[in-house]
Amino acid sequence: MIDPFGRHISYLRVSVTDRCDFRCVYCMAEDMTFLPKADVLTLEELDRLCSAFVRHGVKKLRLTGGEPLVRKNIMSLFDSLGRHLKSGALEELTLTTNGSQLAKYADDLVRAGVKRVNVSVDSLDPQRFRDITRRGDLAVVMDGLRAAKDAGLKVKINAVALKGVNEDEYDEMIAWCGREGFTLTLIETMPLGEIDQDRTDQYLPLSLVRARLQRRWTLDDSDFRTGGPARYARIAETGGLIGFITPLTHNFCESCNRVRLTCTGTLFMCLGQDDAADLRAPLRAGADDAKLDAAIVEAIARKPKGHDFIIDRRQDKPALARHMSVTGG
Ligand code: SAM
Ligand code: SF4
Repeated sequence: MIDPFGRHISYLRVSVTDRCDFRCVYCMAEDMTFLPKADVLTLEELDRLCSAFVRHGVKKLRLTGGEPLVRKNIMSLFDSLGRHLKSGALEELTLTTNGSQLAKYADDLVRAGVKRVNVSVDSLDPQRFRDITRRGDLAVVMDGLRAAKDAGLKVKINAVALKGVNEDEYDEMIAWCGREGFTLTLIETMPLGEIDQDRTDQYLPLSLVRARLQRRWTLDDSDFRTGGPARYARIAETGGLIGFITPLTHNFCESCNRVRLTCTGTLFMCLGQDDAADLRAPLRAGADDAKLDAAIVEAIARKPKGHDFIIDRRQDKPALARHMSVTGG
């Protein structure tokens, strides 16, 4: 699939549920209303949709959420999608998780063909971790990380850079990831969805973070890419990599290869735009995939050039009404 701007679309992220066992302060409101179960695609329908994208040339599939591992029977979806790895049609099957269920599922994920996981850890301090996630237990996530490592999974740690919340921890996180063999990626907060606080208070530009880190660490730009939007630097002192995802200070749309599917079958061609295509209706129109295939081709032809996020004190509304847990990170 090639979009109107000549970009090859080879990466699909699928939010398999909008539900989550955490309520991270930058992602959700304390009191969230989740989708009625009837609106959510079954695991069989998600498999059929993902398989259609694989047929159209998607090489990398990431399951996310909400929290993908809280969806009932989720391993059956990983197992069935694993067949595309075996056939060679798919190059990578992966997930983004908060780690709360990793201890339970790490071995099963490996069996399904998963080789890498992204785990979100915004603080290494148990109380602070609880404050950010409102419900999370850092010790449980640490057990999950150990299980992932023991199972042979490569681990990437995602941390959202939050002003005045975790900005004093990046040195410690770099050292910890260096010891554990994890890659650390810092993410700027994106203005998605109503939360209970003002985002301008949370926003921390990574250009500033990087400048600060360079006082203590030697960072050399790296060509390393994982197919996502992160730009990496090698940390001489640990030998590890640090990634920066900067939707606000540096727009990465020109190299965007991704589209995102929600658990109701809505396809967002851009994380930062409202335009979307409904794939649930053509999916449910019949067992034949002709209508679905046509809808996918039509949607890709509408992929926009890019997004234009701003976090501005004069704007008291988020740039987009939907939360990150709808389209997944
Ligand atoms: N629950 C899983 C997790 O937390 O990893 C997967 C879904 S979560 C929406 C995916 C990623 O998006 C996480 O790394 C999270 O930190 C990030 N995220 C959520 N809301 C965000 C926001 N408003 N700005 C930037 N990143 C956000
Ligand atoms: Fe849940 Fe992930 Fe959002 Fe946190 S960032 S509330 S773990 S979906």
